[in-house]
Amino acid sequence: MTDANAIYQSIQTAQRIVIVSHKSPDGDSIGSSLAFFHLLKKWGKNVTVVHPDPAADYLQWVEGQDQIITFEKNENQAIQLLQEADVICCLDFNEPSRVGKDMQPYLEQATATKIMIDHHLFPSDFCQFRISISTACSTAQLVYEWLEEIKQLDSLDATIGTCIYLGLLTDTGSFRFPSVNAHTHHILAHLLEVGVVHYEIHERIYDTNTIDRIRLRGYALSEKLVCLEGLPIAYISLSAEELERFNYKKGDTEGLVNQVLGIQGIQMAVLFVEKDGVVKISFRSKGIYTVNELAAKYFEGGGHGYASGGVSTASLEQTTLKFVTIVNEFIPIA
Ligand code: 5GP
Ligand code: MN
Repeated sequence: MTDANAIYQSIQTAQRIVIVSHKSPDGDSIGSSLAFFHLLKKWGKNVTVVHPDPAADYLQWVEGQDQIITFEKNENQAIQLLQEADVICCLDFNEPSRVGKDMQPYLEQATATKIMIDHHLFPSDFCQFRISISTACSTAQLVYEWLEEIKQLDSLDATIGTCIYLGLLTDTGSFRFPSVNAHTHHILAHLLEVGVVHYEIHERIYDTNTIDRIRLRGYALSEKLVCLEGLPIAYISLSAEELERFNYKKGDTEGLVNQVLGIQGIQMAVLFVEKDGVVKISFRSKGIYTVNELAAKYFEGGGHGYASGGVSTASLEQTTLKFVTIVNEFIPIA
């Protein structure tokens, strides 16, 4: 049996199913989680989404959001759900640490059959069945392809389709990254056919800026952008005080690093944000530059070749200094 079929069989025989995704959920983790949630509900399953923490405001409109249990807000309920589940679907992450250190032990110790559907490199071996394809543009695409493989595409409807569309849209920079393939566009066409209103999703994701958010981004780009001399590398760092000054809300710096990468001649962009007592780092690159090794070796992180993340417990200044010092190691020889 293929893993796709084994996953289907586990779900069919399960009594209690829990869907988990990574900390600080993005469009793909919310999209794939809620697509799975609506699908399994449609199949008459007892299913709950348990995420480490709530999504940012720009993702709150998605149908089913209000039914997500978060470990951060309802720890006891989340623990009970993980302990009582007989299947746990791990979507859009490749290792247990990605759910954050508070929730991680409960995920690891849960006795449920664990299933992974994910597109990050180097999956760790904590699931019995997995669909792990690092060349896929999004977990949302893998969810669709799984439905295709088990011949259940008839279950697709506008609600499930909207969630899949959201994951595809946000993880591909609006369908522009190299990971987008012809099948991605076939999927999009099918989603429109089942009633997905694509322009509403784009509007909800991209046209809901607050003034504070726009001003913070304007400030970051005009005052805080540093270009490394003689190198196609630029970064922005934002302190907790600066975020506070612009009434920072979760998601306000989302995508900012891509704007830096969009500067002519830049091939590696980094965003350092001082948050919750640590520095969260986003790396993006293109061309012959990759960032996952740098993130893994020096910043306790990892990710895809062109999009990675990490964290630093040093001060913001020390962290940017460390980056500037070590980055030479990762400049490819053309
Ligand atoms: P972002 O910059 O959007 O937060 O993250 C980009 C990508 O980097 C994510 O899709 C994920 O693959 C990876 N990533 C982000 N933060 C971490 C981290 O702390 N650890 C690891 N291993 N990967 C991360
Ligand atoms: Mn993803």
